[in-house]
Amino acid sequence: MKKDMKLTPDVEYILEKLCDAGYRADVVGGAVRDYLLGRELYDYDITTVATPDEVKEVFEGHRIVETGIKHGTVTLVLDEGSYEITTWRVDGDYLDNRHPDSVSFSRTLEEDLARRDFTVNAICYNPIDTYTDIFGGMDDLKAGIIRAVGDPARRFDEDALRIIRGVRFSAELGFRLDEGTAIAALAKRELLNNVSAERIYTELKKLLAADGAHRTVALYGDVILTILPELDRIVLPGADKFMTLTAIEKLAALFHLGSASPKEAFSSAMHRLKSDSDSRILGEDILAIIAEHKPSTLYDALKMLSLYGKRAGDSALKLGLALDVWGAEEKLAYETALDLGRAYTVSELSIDGNDLMSIGLSGREIGKALSDILDAVMRGECDNNKDALLAYYREHLA
Ligand code: ATP
Ligand code: MG
Repeated sequence: MKKDMKLTPDVEYILEKLCDAGYRADVVGGAVRDYLLGRELYDYDITTVATPDEVKEVFEGHRIVETGIKHGTVTLVLDEGSYEITTWRVDGDYLDNRHPDSVSFSRTLEEDLARRDFTVNAICYNPIDTYTDIFGGMDDLKAGIIRAVGDPARRFDEDALRIIRGVRFSAELGFRLDEGTAIAALAKRELLNNVSAERIYTELKKLLAADGAHRTVALYGDVILTILPELDRIVLPGADKFMTLTAIEKLAALFHLGSASPKEAFSSAMHRLKSDSDSRILGEDILAIIAEHKPSTLYDALKMLSLYGKRAGDSALKLGLALDVWGAEEKLAYETALDLGRAYTVSELSIDGNDLMSIGLSGREIGKALSDILDAVMRGECDNNKDALLAYYREHLA
């Protein structure tokens, strides 16, 4: 028998308040799953027989946010955090492979657990009844298996997001999909086209960030190709090297290895998935550096830093080494470029536009002169102090 779940004071308070008012309430889903696996817990979802109105009454005087109320969810805001409290429910028909047409409240916990996606997410706990595990979630946790609750094909028809959630959980937990669940996930993978770009992107990022991403991408490559049709094929670097990369670096690696025009393909995938532009630009820069800016010499490395900055440069170095397209020589050049402390941006120069204006330059000449002077500094032809820079300008560039 599993030992009692350790709850935070907030969660104990929530369960106790509902229980004292006569309503059964349990922690459910990710928190129970992650607790049983000995993983860190991030948030607690509560499932209860109380309707949203009843929950509001029990927690009168506390702040309650009603954003999910249509689906029976209210968010209770307490000192330590906020908690989603969802009324037991059964989902109605799903017309668009994503959203239930209607939800109705249920008077049985079993129905609420039956609508959940995977057995490992359908275990609940409260201090009085302890664990309730109707679908064999604990056994699947022990065996390391992601198994749909009920008929997997039907569950993926209802909501195709579950396909990519299942694959993502396999990467995060180091689990494999149960055979029937894997077969259905592959057979139904085209339904992922009906899922919103934002949700796919969120899942993809979580999947890639996970330590088990390499194995999962190798095993379920066809699902990955369905959400990333811009890739020609899945090619992976070695697992150990892949693991050291961030999610965006891993995505860049997949495009570098699996596309004929990596940067363009990556860019259109990120636009289509409505990614944040920061991640997109970082990935584009990394891929451009790998393709065009091998830091073979100190100057190459400085030039690359000057065009793309240190953040993209650091990521590109990691990726270049992981992909074995760069080696010790490039690493040395890049690290020397950083250690040297030599200027690689115009703003680091000891002169600025005003200094050039005072010696008679104007308009576009100024920008051109600054960039030529920076180039000379990067080449080591001139020290970065005002007199030397102005002297160099007069002698070589004027
Ligand atoms: P994590 O928070 O680590 O992503 P989680 O299991 O807590 O994992 P949430 O998205 O927070 O996932 O959802 C909470 C619970 O709600 C899940 O554990 C599951 O029981 C249920 N759930 C979430 N999304 C779905 C879905 N698309 N279909 C069925 N049940 C779902
Ligand atoms: Mg969660």
